[in-house]
Amino acid sequence: MKRKMFYLALFSLLLLSATRGWAQKSGDDLPRRAADLHNKILTVDTHIDWPSHQLRSPDFVPRERHEPGKMGSGQWDLPRMKEGGLDAAFMSIFTSQGARTDSGHAQAKAHALKLIELTKKMVADNPDLAEMALTPEEAYRIEKAGKRAIFMGMENGYPLGKDLANVKMFYDLGVRYITMTHTRNNELGDSSTDDKKEWNGLSPLGEQVVKEMNRLGILVDISHVSDDLFWDVIAMTKAPVIASHSSARALCDHARNMNDEMLKAVKKNGGVVQVCLLGSYIKKMPPNPERDEAMKPLQGKIRAARRGELSDEEADKVWAAYQAIDAKFPANRPTVQDAADHIDHMAKIMGIDHIGIGSDFDGGGGLIGIDDVSEMPNLTKELLKRGYSENDIRKIWGGNLMRVFSEVIKVSGQIQANGVSSH
Ligand SMILES: [Zn+2]
Repeated sequence: MKRKMFYLALFSLLLLSATRGWAQKSGDDLPRRAADLHNKILTVDTHIDWPSHQLRSPDFVPRERHEPGKMGSGQWDLPRMKEGGLDAAFMSIFTSQGARTDSGHAQAKAHALKLIELTKKMVADNPDLAEMALTPEEAYRIEKAGKRAIFMGMENGYPLGKDLANVKMFYDLGVRYITMTHTRNNELGDSSTDDKKEWNGLSPLGEQVVKEMNRLGILVDISHVSDDLFWDVIAMTKAPVIASHSSARALCDHARNMNDEMLKAVKKNGGVVQVCLLGSYIKKMPPNPERDEAMKPLQGKIRAARRGELSDEEADKVWAAYQAIDAKFPANRPTVQDAADHIDHMAKIMGIDHIGIGSDFDGGGGLIGIDDVSEMPNLTKELLKRGYSENDIRKIWGGNLMRVFSEVIKVSGQIQANGVSSH
């Protein structure tokens, strides 16, 4: 096994871990009802990190089916997307936060451009299976044609640097949402997970960027931002907002999640919160000391393998040892039912019209029962089981997001017709 494959394997394993396959009641007709529903409705996932996965694994072939849970399989490919009844996905043009210098910003921009190029190439290479989409209408048309609609959303405003003109540049390249920040503060404002308040919300440039996004028709994504930044956006945006991948803080107290006041504000704003299927945003799990203890002797070797210091043979041994421990002491992980609890809570607080799904697959997402894109119908089954109507589920799986997207485009048209300057 090549070293590169070892990292991929390890990465997949950490993401996917041991337990797959959500055991469901035999004899019921939920699988058929879920499959029928997925055939009927437009389903959208607003956050898949496949572009970053592709960059890490240049040999990955998106049109081939990769066996879930296996080394380097990732959590998305075109066949599994079809299998999971997922019609549309926002591929994440993700840039991790680096130095806030001119060269840092230039590098971030180059990185984002590279991921955009990769995404467009993937679609161009697979014209029989997928098409790029820029509007809700295009997604509905592509879905009817039996293909997958691929959108692009940019995670982290860092590649914009200090230049407002970059917003239009990325819009022209097809980016349709921008997540204002990632894990640290940037030029646009404060992150939910930075230790210090720098801007107390949006920076002056961040305000200009929100105005420009409203003008152009880019969805303003408030996932990852500080609470102050969220409230600043809510106060000034002319169009509804999205949280591309965030869950409910009332059920899982994490800065990345949204408290009930924020959820109510999104309802009032007309926006949508896309529940994130990432374990630590879904449920705090009990510690697993036996697993930690068993893994301990392996840590040094894993680090050495990561640094490329082991031979392929040694790396294979470390991998085998890791698998053995993982089988004996599986990681504690939340389930698809736990994710449905977040949907229940949001429905109670906001109503059904403001909820969607943003998996974060290939970026840390994945729960027991919904561990890759092929398992999307398991969430639908759970919602059916809980009594959600087909129309509710249509809204959750994409109807709400598309309504918000259409509204954002409409507002943009009005702003441009009124000649309101963004500067
Ligand atoms: Zn994220």
